[in-house]
Amino acid sequence: MPPVFRFAPSPNGHLHLGHAYSALLNFDLARQSGGRFLLRIEDIDATRCRPEFEAAIYQDLAWLGIAWETPVRRQSEHLADYRAALEKLSAEGLVYPGFESRAEIARLVAQREADAPWPRDPDGAPLYPGAAKSLSPDQRRRLIESDIPYALRLDMAAASARASGLNWVERGEGPDGETGIVAARPEAWGDVILARKETPTSYHLSVAIDDALQGVTDVVRGADLFWSTSVHRLLQHLLDLPQPTYRHHRLILDGEGRKLSKSTAATGIRELRAGGAAPADIRRLVGLP
Ligand code: GLU
Repeated sequence: MPPVFRFAPSPNGHLHLGHAYSALLNFDLARQSGGRFLLRIEDIDATRCRPEFEAAIYQDLAWLGIAWETPVRRQSEHLADYRAALEKLSAEGLVYPGFESRAEIARLVAQREADAPWPRDPDGAPLYPGAAKSLSPDQRRRLIESDIPYALRLDMAAASARASGLNWVERGEGPDGETGIVAARPEAWGDVILARKETPTSYHLSVAIDDALQGVTDVVRGADLFWSTSVHRLLQHLLDLPQPTYRHHRLILDGEGRKLSKSTAATGIRELRAGGAAPADIRRLVGLP
C-alpha cells in the first residue's frame, strides 16, 4: 500500500509561507515515496471559515504546482461521522458536559491562581478548572434542557486510565528535540473539549477521525501541533483507529522570530505572487529544493 500524506488547512484566512512549506513538504514526500497526497479542508468553525478563503487555498496551491486527489474532504460535510464517535465515547462514560462560559472559566482559574499556579496545557492555556464532572445525571439533564450552551469534555482521568503507555513514532522533532518513539502525555491537556452544543466536534476529534477515514499513514505538520499528538493517540486508542506515523516540521518564522499569522500581508502567498514572486522563489524562501 502506498503511503498517504495530507495537507489540512482551515479556510479562515489566506495561506502564508508556513502553509506553503507544509503543503510542499507533504507533496514532495508523497511524490518521492510513490505515495498519495490528499487535501482536507478543516472548516468546522462556521464563524471563522469562509468559502472565498477555501477558493483561494485551491488557487494558491495550484499556483505552487501542487496537485491533490479529488474529491477534497471538507469537515463540515461529515458531522455525522464525528457525532457517531462522540456517541461511542459518551456511551462508555468518557464524556461529560461542562456548562461554564469562557468568562466563568477565566474567573475560576483566577480564583485558583490566588493560592498557587494553576496547571497549563502544552499550548499555555489553563486546564479546565470546573466541577461539571461531578454533576448528577439529573442536574445535567435539567441544564441541557434549560438551553444554555455547553462543551462536551473528555474525562481525561477515566480515558487515560484505559490507555497507559501510548506512544507514537516521530520522524521529525518536537520542541525539545523529541524524536523516535515519543511517549504520549494526554493528561497534560486536562479535560479537553471534544465538541460543543452547536458544533458536534473539535479540532482534536475531527483530525483523529479524518486521518483514519482517509487512510492517512504519514501526518506531516507544524511543530506547534507536536503535543496535540498525545490527544490524537488517545482518541485513536479509544475509537479503535489505526495509528499513523508523525513528522512535525520546523515553523517558518517572521523577521522577529514569531510564528506567521494569516493576517500578515508580507508573508502571504497571494501578496508574494502579486509582488512578482514565482513558485520557485517560494520554495527558496522556505528552504526547500
Ligand atoms: N487545520 C490545522 C491548521 O490549519 C492543521 C491540522 C493538522 O495538520 O493536524 O493548523
